[in-house]
Formats: sequence, C-alpha cells, structure tokens
Amino acid sequence: MDCDELGGSQGLGIEENISKVRERIFKARLRSPYRQDVTLVAVSKTASLREIEEAMRCGITDFGENRVQQLLTRWQMFPHARWHLVGRLQSNKVKDVIGRVVLIHSLDRWELAEYIEKRAEKQGLVVEALLQVNVSQESTKAGVEPDAVRDFLLEAGRLRNLKIVGLMTMAPEVEDPEEIRPIFKKLKRLFDEIKREGIPGVEMRFLSMGMTQDYEVAIEEGANMVRIGRALFGHSGRQGG
Ligand SMILES: *Cc1c(COP(=O)(O)O)cnc(C)c1O
Repeated sequence: MDCDELGGSQGLGIEENISKVRERIFKARLRSPYRQDVTLVAVSKTASLREIEEAMRCGITDFGENRVQQLLTRWQMFPHARWHLVGRLQSNKVKDVIGRVVLIHSLDRWELAEYIEKRAEKQGLVVEALLQVNVSQESTKAGVEPDAVRDFLLEAGRLRNLKIVGLMTMAPEVEDPEEIRPIFKKLKRLFDEIKREGIPGVEMRFLSMGMTQDYEVAIEEGANMVRIGRALFGHSGRQGG
C-alpha cells in the first residue's frame, strides 16, 4: 500500500521502515516450512503520536505498548487501532486494561490469571491473553517455566472469563539472532504439542515471538505474531540493516 495516497507521508521515514519490515516478513515466511500468516504488532513505546498516525496511514492496524499508562492515553487518542499490552501487568492495573486491549501478551504468573478472571467477570468480559513462557530460563525474565506450562494451562482452561489463546516469549538480547533459534524452536514445539493434545478451554492460535533483532528467525521457526519496535520507529543508525 502506498501511504502517500492515503493522505501524504510526513517525511518521518516510517513509511520506508514499514515497507522494509513487510518485505522481510514476506521473505521469512517463504523460508518458513509452515508458510503461516503473520500479524505485525507495531510496538510504539518509543514512537511519537505523529509516527503512530503515519503508521496507521500505512495500514498498520495493531499496536503494542509495554506500559499501562501510555497504553491508556494512546488507546484514548486512537480508539480505532487494535491495542496489545506486551509488558508486565500489575494486578492493580488489570481493571484499566481489560476491555481496551485486544490481547494481553504478558500473562506471566498464576496470581495474575486469577486477578484477570475476577475483574473480567465483574465487568462481564472475556479477556484473551497469551501465556508468557520463560524459555531461556534467565532469572531476569518474566514468564512461566517451560515445564510448568501444561499444568498452568490445565488450570487456566477452567476459567470462564480469561481465555488463553497462545504463547509468547521474549528472547535474550544477543549479537547474532542465530543464537536464539533454539529458543524459538523449543516454544514452537511446545505450542504444537499443546495444540495436538487439546487442553479444554485453551486455544493455541497465536505464537508471539520475534522483535527487531530476531523476527526473521522467529518467523522461520513458526511465529505468527511478531512485536516490532525499533525497526519501525527507531531513528536512523539504530534500526539495524
Ligand atoms: C519493546 C518491546 C518489543 C519491541 O522491541 P524492539 O527491539 O524495539 O523491536 C517487543 N516486545 C516487548 C515485550 C517489548 O517490551
């Protein structure tokens, strides 16, 4: 899509970034044995409002934020975009977020699942979330350990107002994205196993993995949702390639 036709590029460079990222996603899909559709979530935590507007003109529909406060102000300014929460969610912020985001990517502990269930029931909502898995098992990363995923899902499948619709992971920062390939492979394997097994009340629809440093590798390994910030909104010299 040519963004100029849709109201004029403001010369922020976003249009060019988006077309580069789209092309790379397209090519990575061709290298993937799964040939999956891929949803691009534009992580706008460092983007200005004008940059978000430009991205919307270029056809970006899904935006991610990692801080609840900024998510809420932006949700108010751009209510027609689909907002995703990708960062850590504190229990006391749950009530502000549910009903406003299309997907919470960062369900990382049982206490939070119970809290979402309680608030969602009160507000008469069904909230969709991804279970965040700490595949790399770094102590600094949030998420459920891979070995604990199945038990978590068996329990969560019983909840009526929280629905788990997939898995998410955050890989460690590395120089060479090839180092992360085993992490993505491992999560994809777990995703497929759970899907095959069929846990009642749980759906394995989205596999959210891959950021600026590693989204092509993630897609090659089966990601169908990527969360990209810097490659879209980073300023020149910081966006890599
Ligand atoms: C910031 C962020 C991203 C995007 O990272 P980039 O390196 O800017 O592409 C993805 N996921 C989460 C959870 C983030 O906080």
